[in-house]
Amino acid sequence: MDFSIPEHMQALTETVRRFVTQEVQPLEQEVERLGHLPPDALRDLRGKAQALGLFAMNMPEEVGGGGLSVLEMCLVEEELGKTSDALIRRIFGQVYPMLLACQGDQRERYLMPTMRGEKICAMAITEPGAGSDAASIATTARLDGGEWVIDGTKHFISDGDIADYVIVMALTEKEKRARGGISLLLVDKGTPGFSVTRHQPMMGHRGYGHAELAFENCRIPAANVLGEVGGGFKLIMSTVAAIRLAHIGARCVGMASRVLEMMRLYATERRQFGQAIGDFQMVQQMIADSAAEIFAARMMVHNTAWELDQGRDPRDKVSMVKFYASEMLGRVADRGIQVFGGAGYSKDLPLERIYRDARVTRIYDGTSEIHRMLVARGVMKHGLNL
Ligand SMILES: Cc1cc2nc3c(=O)[nH]c(=O)nc-3n(C[C@H](O)[C@H](O)[C@H](O)COP(=O)(O)OP(=O)(O)OC[C@H]3O[C@@H](n4cnc5c(N)ncnc54)[C@H](O)[C@@H]3O)c2cc1C
Repeated sequence: MDFSIPEHMQALTETVRRFVTQEVQPLEQEVERLGHLPPDALRDLRGKAQALGLFAMNMPEEVGGGGLSVLEMCLVEEELGKTSDALIRRIFGQVYPMLLACQGDQRERYLMPTMRGEKICAMAITEPGAGSDAASIATTARLDGGEWVIDGTKHFISDGDIADYVIVMALTEKEKRARGGISLLLVDKGTPGFSVTRHQPMMGHRGYGHAELAFENCRIPAANVLGEVGGGFKLIMSTVAAIRLAHIGARCVGMASRVLEMMRLYATERRQFGQAIGDFQMVQQMIADSAAEIFAARMMVHNTAWELDQGRDPRDKVSMVKFYASEMLGRVADRGIQVFGGAGYSKDLPLERIYRDARVTRIYDGTSEIHRMLVARGVMKHGLNL
């Protein structure tokens, strides 16, 4: 068993780490204050990331991506996790891997401009009446005169307010639902019948928006199906494991590691009662527990990523990572604030932002309860396969 990280990967993660700490982290405060990314700084940093080959690293080389394995992507995501989600999206790219299903001229209209950072894509699955139970969506798409006609409402859609196009999950055959009745449709901004009806400000993740989208008699060409008609649910499910592992699991490990490093430095510097607070056992316990939990989550991420790279289907492990890493981050962020006392609660430090941003990792991409349910079902059916 060899747990060492190959040299080329150490070099890549070191490049990402340096870029994130030296160039990206200094922007965090301004984004929090403004609520959006300063356009000039953003253009500059995205250009630099692209020049360094750090844009859309999750995508294959054939389409201009980084061509990283899942394990490699997790190592990179750990470093990306050391800054905010808004900055990661805009500087390093938010390219949904299901876009690889683009066919014919869809590649030039959607996939490639997104790969180059020229177009922003949003993914619209959730609806007011369908969240955890995604297969219960009510949005429909019916064929009429060579066009799809879409009707329905989506909400909480990240980047929905600014996206150049949206991948919309809709029912194309009501009775079949997840078993061949759900399709993914590519809808351009400005298409008549498609509108952003409400901005939905969130507790955290300042710097990018979440929106409610309405589709009313919205007509798009019949060719705007992503993948197969009826194959939408399957297509999403085929990409979620790597997304959950890298974007949530590894990113949570990175965020928590940043907090622990801050705790470590502060515990050594800050003095009360004539000694460093790191000398007090109760502070030491917060540091020790955080270190152990980060280590556990990191090993879970690496092991599961390795299995995915072997072509296996470690779905129970992916679910375990999803709830363990996100809940671990919540605990570490909370301890981080406690170790810093009042300074931790103040907006002078990134801790209160991390604490807020961390909360949603237990909710999106499947809540902790849904993933626990999946793990329990899997274990009851075939035991714990480690
Ligand atoms: C910041 C943010 C960004 C998002 N971005 C996107 C996006 O880009 N695209 C998109 O499509 N969606 C997005 N979402 C939506 C997100 O995926 C959903 O919020 C999530 O799936 C949960 O659905 P829900 O909010 O409807 O909660 P519900 O499904 O209504 O759940 C409410 C509660 O009930 C529990 N529950 C539900 N079913 C069960 C069960 N079977 N057993 C036990 N407990 C259960 C849940 O765990 C939760 O605690 C985003 C959400 C947020 C907050």
